[in-house]
Amino acid sequence: MQYVSTRAASSAAASPSQPSSAQFSDILLGGLAADGGLFLPASYPQVTGAELDAWRKLSYAELAFEILKKFATDIPEADLRALTAKTYTAEVYKNARKEESAADITPLRVLEEGENGTRLVLQALSNGPTLAFKDMAMQLLGNLFEYALAKQNAELNIFGATSGDTGSAAEYAMRGKQGIRVFMLSPHKKMSAFQTAQMFSLQDPNIFNIAIEGVFDDAQDMVKAVSNDLEFKARHKIGTVNSINWARVVAQVVYYFRGYLAATTSNDQKVSFTVPSGNFGNICAGHIARMMGLPIDKLVAATNENDVLDEFFRSGVYRVRKSAETYHTSSPSMDISKASNFERFVYELVGRDSDRTRALFQKVDTHGGFDLSGKPGSDGDEFKLVANYGFKSGKSTHQDRVDTIRDVADDYGIVIDTHTADGIKVAKEHLEPGVTMIVLETALAAKFNETILEALGEDAERPDGFENIEDLPQKFVVMKPDVAAMKAYIASNTGL
Ligand SMILES: *Cc1c(COP(=O)(O)O)cnc(C)c1O
Repeated sequence: MQYVSTRAASSAAASPSQPSSAQFSDILLGGLAADGGLFLPASYPQVTGAELDAWRKLSYAELAFEILKKFATDIPEADLRALTAKTYTAEVYKNARKEESAADITPLRVLEEGENGTRLVLQALSNGPTLAFKDMAMQLLGNLFEYALAKQNAELNIFGATSGDTGSAAEYAMRGKQGIRVFMLSPHKKMSAFQTAQMFSLQDPNIFNIAIEGVFDDAQDMVKAVSNDLEFKARHKIGTVNSINWARVVAQVVYYFRGYLAATTSNDQKVSFTVPSGNFGNICAGHIARMMGLPIDKLVAATNENDVLDEFFRSGVYRVRKSAETYHTSSPSMDISKASNFERFVYELVGRDSDRTRALFQKVDTHGGFDLSGKPGSDGDEFKLVANYGFKSGKSTHQDRVDTIRDVADDYGIVIDTHTADGIKVAKEHLEPGVTMIVLETALAAKFNETILEALGEDAERPDGFENIEDLPQKFVVMKPDVAAMKAYIASNTGL
């Protein structure tokens, strides 16, 4: 399997003597392609009906192996099988609700079977160590990184900024891993007590929590400043695990297959997915599963008030938001100003034309967006093709989330988190007779308790082991947003 950049120069792509492509292991530890684009397979591997039938019986780990081996063709199959078996265990995904089976890894729960033949199902993706769906990919990434680094006898220092879910998922995936250190910046005293405790209670010597005196953007700016020093970056083997990482996307493809296969008994049954969306990473994986031939009917992107994606899927206009237009909401993991994986879909939409893709995303930098509506003066008319890819969308507000959390508790007897509430609200607007609608549950309610209290007047239940997490000893340093001091801190802890 060869990978290409969405912005590869077409002359190089056309010339076999000048390969512009890479293998899975080449892109595993990296981020953007050198040309600023995102990596994608040169073509999507296809699945057959016979394969789907056989896969219905597999465990999650076995299914993950079958799918990943189509993408990671340069990793020996026995190694890949061992890595997936080690990652997707009932022990790692143990935070399943009492009545659900942890061994299912992503258990399904039918919420409603309508008299008119509609069906609403929840797929739990948040039973991993940090109670959010990012564990689904990040846990595999931790094992893949450790494996790849050991082979090259290399080290990696992961450096990033977080306002919550990504940082903790990265730390729990990398803790105790050979050859890896994590330096994670977060805004001092700005995360919830639960999120802070989750990260700062880790005592592993390879985890470094750095609380920056400032807001998230200050922490993010520090990461950019340090990463722009290429000499420092190379010397200290600095890398990232952000949402554009290809291995993260591909690990997420697996649960779309799992959800489809678990919800159906034959491959002519129709299933749609509604996905609480921010950076377009999760739903991009659904798009890839669909391109591989998984019979997904619709892919519905659910946004909160930060509706960049909803706007595009309604109008064909992609317009990134300025900071002042980016709202802090009660589904904070979807508070984005632009959707960093969106280029992977746009590349497909414009017929895998890397010159067009490059021009469109340069226009994002220079003009804040592009318009594919086909209206006079627009940048193209490909919006009319979006329906071929099954995409739909919707958005919700804080009041919608509160109402949905309350309704779901009343009607189905379970408590959902705010992001999943965005999903349920939008999914209900897209139910169709004869089609199972699966909503992806992207976090457990305990992580976003403030809104649960507001909606239900009582605290969200915490999974076993999380009861007193705020009381555990915490390990972190507080620093000013000072680039030189940050570099000195990293240097003194990498020993490089
Ligand atoms: C990250 C996150 C999302 C958004 O996922 P994207 O891949 O960025 O679209 C939604 N819900 C939760 C709880 C998250 O942590």
